[in-house]
Amino acid sequence: MRDGNVLIAPPLAALGPVCLKCGTDQALQSRTQVFYWHPPWIYALLLLRVLPYIIGALVTRKKATLTYSLCETHFSAMRRAKWFGLLSILAIIAGSVALGVQRATANDVGTMLVVLLAMLVAIVAIARLWIAPTQIQTRKIIKLQAEFTGIAPEALDRLVPEQL
Ligand SMILES: [Zn+2]
Repeated sequence: MRDGNVLIAPPLAALGPVCLKCGTDQALQSRTQVFYWHPPWIYALLLLRVLPYIIGALVTRKKATLTYSLCETHFSAMRRAKWFGLLSILAIIAGSVALGVQRATANDVGTMLVVLLAMLVAIVAIARLWIAPTQIQTRKIIKLQAEFTGIAPEALDRLVPEQL
């Protein structure tokens, strides 16, 4: 099933041999990915602390497994984005350590806030611009149904011809 550009599938599904990012059926690689989703309101628990959030997310999270195909180009784009994400997390950890060292030596709260803000902006920019476009995401997973976004309309047209 589909809803516009959203694919609606059972929690355990295998899709046909079509690249989800461009709709081609040439030079495909198949992969199986497990997706987790929890209701967005759980993020509000972060206001309390990280631990209540983790517990809430674990209790309410739903799982879906999707087997899908990608062409060589989009497969390597997804892998590159994963490495890029990992490297940026390492860079951010290194930045935080450097900040800690700086705080231990000087006591410049203003500079620290600016650096923290810049790091936050960098994380959001990296995730939105480089990683998200290469990934398949879940919009929602409820009991018997998972909704996936990030799939090219051409691919959806071939996998699930739009019902009229
Ligand atoms: Zn492709």
